[in-house]
Amino acid sequence: MTSSPAARRPNAGAVPDRSPARVPAHVRIAIVGTGFSGLGAAIALAEAGYGDDLVLLERRDDVGGTWHDNTYPGCRCDVPSNLYSFSFAPNPNWSETFSAQPEIERYLQRTAQRYDVTDRILFSTSLETARWDTAHSRWVLSTSRGEMTADFLISGAGALSQPSIPDFPGASTFGGTSFHSAQWDHTYDVTGRRVAIIGTGASTVQFLPIVQRSAAKVTLFQRTPAWVFPHRNRRTLPLERAVFRTFPWTQRFSRARNYWMAELLLCSLLVRNSPVLTRVEALGRRHIARQVKDPVLRAKLTPDFTPGCKRLLQSNDYYPALQRPNVTVETEKIVEVVPEGIVTADGTVHEVDAIIYGTGFLVTDNPTADVVFGVDGTSLAQHWADTGMAAYCGTTIAGFPNFFMMAGPNTGIGHTSLVVMIEAQIAHVVGALDALRHAGADVVDVKPDALARWHAEVQAKAAPTVWNSGGCSSWYLDAQGRNPTLWPDYTFRFVRRTAHFEPADYRLTSRTGGTPPGADSVLTTSGTQS
Ligand SMILES: Cc1cc2nc3c(=O)[nH]c(=O)nc-3n(C[C@H](O)[C@H](O)[C@H](O)COP(=O)(O)OP(=O)(O)OC[C@H]3O[C@@H](n4cnc5c(N)ncnc54)[C@H](O)[C@@H]3O)c2cc1C
Repeated sequence: MTSSPAARRPNAGAVPDRSPARVPAHVRIAIVGTGFSGLGAAIALAEAGYGDDLVLLERRDDVGGTWHDNTYPGCRCDVPSNLYSFSFAPNPNWSETFSAQPEIERYLQRTAQRYDVTDRILFSTSLETARWDTAHSRWVLSTSRGEMTADFLISGAGALSQPSIPDFPGASTFGGTSFHSAQWDHTYDVTGRRVAIIGTGASTVQFLPIVQRSAAKVTLFQRTPAWVFPHRNRRTLPLERAVFRTFPWTQRFSRARNYWMAELLLCSLLVRNSPVLTRVEALGRRHIARQVKDPVLRAKLTPDFTPGCKRLLQSNDYYPALQRPNVTVETEKIVEVVPEGIVTADGTVHEVDAIIYGTGFLVTDNPTADVVFGVDGTSLAQHWADTGMAAYCGTTIAGFPNFFMMAGPNTGIGHTSLVVMIEAQIAHVVGALDALRHAGADVVDVKPDALARWHAEVQAKAAPTVWNSGGCSSWYLDAQGRNPTLWPDYTFRFVRRTAHFEPADYRLTSRTGGTPPGADSVLTTSGTQS
């Protein structure tokens, strides 16, 4: 990799240095990350009265998370913007129905300002380790700007925030430029260059058509083709935006329509791995047939698994770009990287000037799990070594008290907006803090049996879904073939279960170790005290 983080920004140098000299010694609530999760949690907690002593740690120099990091050309959301935004902060002024990255990043920055979150952020500050201190019932956080403690730790560190780059033999010997799509090197001009693009996921489908326009030659290294459908993005009309501004209920209606259409039309097919998915497949085949005339290329680009098994992609210019004279689709396996390029299994040396990795993110092996250590001193990664990633309501893990993980295990979605899931989790966190306050308690820890029940239920539900049995291997599944990433049901069911905090599934204790008198009254409200 050849670029520094600052050089990767298209507007490098525009952001003033807002990094603190040191972190505070102690806070009540520490939140990691300033994407949808971190910002949403900070706003909701402040509104619920927990904002007095709350900070956010952000390793970057600005807010936005995914939408700050991914500046590759063509980056945009694949869920309608009316739905892919906070329910409490609708934006009537989206300029397109599926917004591009700069507009989403600006939306998050504006939202942080509007809700007074920006001043609470410790920018350019990385969480390095978090260890539960049982003696004092608090988290000891080691950060890049010193040590601090916090009563509560909320991780909004992102499920798709750590780029995954395959470990090809010889990769470090490559003589040209290489970078991952999430770390786009804006100092590198692809004009007139020979560019290798590795991977055929959601990002590649967006940036390849733009790279193709100016590169001399593009070689796409495809392991598995993806199902690609027509994109419905369009510019919004001034009248439409005026109506949303004047009658906000119209935008709420539009959001609800988008949500329920995705839920009832698509989700119902995916969770049942329904035979009706063959009709979705027919749509995908029609899109290829309409756009790709060469039967040999068409065969190369047609997946052999059920649509939905991997993420459904949308693009109108991906297939046309692949047919331009300067593009080759290479399906031979990559065996090695050499100084002059990439060697495939058939012995061909593909000479290139640049390698762009569109190879996705570390998901089931996200390094965040290596840095959080619970009551018995084991890390989340060690804790999950046997069972795979598991969290009650995707949020809490037994033995990791006062810790909440946004976008945690089995909260991912393949058909709708992740913000829906994140908002439900945030309501869960607020519910936990409310329960502690009512009980006069300090520490909340999910009961192991509640977590085990949840996990067993989720895994049983996952088995028949298209993600587990659709005939593909994807980043949704871990090395053992379990699905620790996606929510295998309608999202309204997740919201119903998660947004409601169920005290009976938790142990509420006071700092001195006992169950405070108030905890009983909280527990009995559920009627299932144990
Ligand atoms: C290119 C792309 C397109 C996507 N499109 C969609 C879409 O259309 N619809 C959809 O629902 N989802 C989409 N997603 C998924 C997207 O990641 C989520 O929707 C959402 O943005 C996640 O928000 P988050 O706050 O949980 O995590 P992130 O946005 O990833 O934010 C995590 C933050 O934590 C910070 N951080 C991480 N580790 C540390 C640390 N140790 N110390 C300090 N800070 C740290 C990061 O710098 C980052 O700011 C997309 C993802 C990508 C990569």
